[in-house]
Amino acid sequence: MTSSPATSGGPALMAYDDALARYEPVLGLETHVELGTRSKMFCSCATAFGAEPNTQVCPVCLALPGSLPVVNGTAVESAVRLGLALNCSIASWCRFARKNYFYPDMPKNYQISQYDEPLCSDGHLDVVVDTPEGPREFRVEIERVHMEEDTGKTSHVGGTTGRIHGAEYSIVDYNRAGIPLLEIVTKPIEHTGDLAPLVARAYVSELRDLVRSLGVSDVRMEEGSLRCDVNVSLMPRGATKWGTRSETKNVNSLRSVERAMRFEIQRQAAVLDAGGRVVQETRHFQENSGTTVSGRSKEEAQDYRYFPDPDLVPVAPSAEWIEELRAGLPELPAAKRRRIKAEWELSDEELRDLVNAEAIDLVAATVDAGAPPADARKWWLNELSRRATETEVELAALPVTPAQVARVVELVAEGTLTNKLARQVVEGVLAGEGEPDAVVEARGLKVVSDDSALGAAVRQAIADNPDVAEKIRGGKVAAAGALVGAVMKATRGQADAGRARELILAELGVQA
Ligand code: ADP
Ligand code: MG
Ligand code: ZN
Repeated sequence: MTSSPATSGGPALMAYDDALARYEPVLGLETHVELGTRSKMFCSCATAFGAEPNTQVCPVCLALPGSLPVVNGTAVESAVRLGLALNCSIASWCRFARKNYFYPDMPKNYQISQYDEPLCSDGHLDVVVDTPEGPREFRVEIERVHMEEDTGKTSHVGGTTGRIHGAEYSIVDYNRAGIPLLEIVTKPIEHTGDLAPLVARAYVSELRDLVRSLGVSDVRMEEGSLRCDVNVSLMPRGATKWGTRSETKNVNSLRSVERAMRFEIQRQAAVLDAGGRVVQETRHFQENSGTTVSGRSKEEAQDYRYFPDPDLVPVAPSAEWIEELRAGLPELPAAKRRRIKAEWELSDEELRDLVNAEAIDLVAATVDAGAPPADARKWWLNELSRRATETEVELAALPVTPAQVARVVELVAEGTLTNKLARQVVEGVLAGEGEPDAVVEARGLKVVSDDSALGAAVRQAIADNPDVAEKIRGGKVAAAGALVGAVMKATRGQADAGRARELILAELGVQA
């Protein structure tokens, strides 16, 4: 039952289906979201990504003696808003705690976090997973959302792996130290069966969209502003006592969340099947091989000697303020999907395609700019999705705006452009040639519908195809299509097909 290692030297794996036939997975996700506040959590240093190392630091975030932290109000507001959006209870009073451990990228020797008094607790987020039998909804219970600060960033220089082993020296950048983080921890998620990896992925995707809709973070997984720890354990089918979990750290894409969990299920199943026991440990996901490798053992719980941070005042959001923030929440992604599905009369599959292409907001904005939903969807899902894939950028990062797409749709609707010309206009916009109207002008892409310009092409088409012309004269009007085609070809697609047809029939003396 246990198959050979995934990679030479890698752990034994059980085939995924066999693993799920024997074991029931339990999963849990811890997600860190870096907030998009302009300043850090406890000082006024800037937070911009990509600055010169150690230029966004001060005595507070470098933990110089005598410095004192002050809480960033916007960060607290962001945390409350996310807690509300996740259906959490918001504490009326809570404190920050010191989590004591040593790490060179953490200047204070402790991290300011929250421990037994999180700001938000006991919420839930519903996620939808596609199955062959149709979409299935799962409720993910949220344990807590708490506030903390990020650490700096260590780079190991001189080795081949980028890890400390084999490196000649290491350097630390403290720009990230003190950037506000929210940690969102789920309760253990049960009864997902073989869908566990998909539930994990759907949860992270939904959480990312939720955070984005609140505007509190840009949640770019590839830049690390959303990082995910994937916990998973197995228990024999029918059992009720959870198994020992592994925790795969800092998984950096939706696809990796799914792959990491699949791999861990297969690995743990092989361990259990061989009579072994799963070790409680952190593991690291290897992007290239899709495997996880052992990190730090967590068999003996590390004692972080948490205690309330005496330098910070408690956080005590008033009930009025919380209600004010609740009332100010935007339409959340799930509600938006439901509304759009109904308004645009989409099937489950059509909605799924929009969601999978991450096109909902773009299409909605295109509709808001005046395009019919069907046209807006067609552009973003076909032409533009293809371009995004080809150029390896996210759909939203393409250099074309919903307003520009709406204008192209309008130009087609009013007959100025054919679909074929419209694609050339969009190409021009993507190439940075300006607004759609400017591209039409500069490239001379208008549909040719004036009779003087079309007349010559029509007469030429008739002269070139005497047999077709004869059929039409004889009453076979449908044959006109061939001549329209010839006119389109002669005008490089710019002819108004309807007007060309009228002119052909008139020229041949046939009633339309
Ligand atoms: P730690 O900081 O030690 O990782 P946390 O409580 O912050 O602990 O997070 C643990 C995560 O693992 C939570 O999401 C929790 O739901 C999940 N979890 C706890 N026990 C199990 C288990 N037996 N199997 C799978 N997931 C688990
Ligand atoms: Mg953890
Ligand atoms: Zn600072």
